[in-house]
Amino acid sequence: MAKYYVNKNAQSNGDHEVHTTGCSYMPQAENRIYLGEFITCRSAITEAKKHYTQVNGCYYCSNACHTS
Ligand SMILES: [Zn+2]
Repeated sequence: MAKYYVNKNAQSNGDHEVHTTGCSYMPQAENRIYLGEFITCRSAITEAKKHYTQVNGCYYCSNACHTS
């Protein structure tokens, strides 16, 4: 299980990126929402979509859920 977070700030393309603990691109604490602990990033994406309609897995830490 890993802890996942979603960035409160959208990327330039409108995506709110989902990150897991230890990612170099993890947003600062005030700029992220804790989603919970999940086995896969898919579950984290589903949770993140409760907060934002446009979400995407981080290319670096959640590549399996990253779409370009
Ligand atoms: Zn990341």
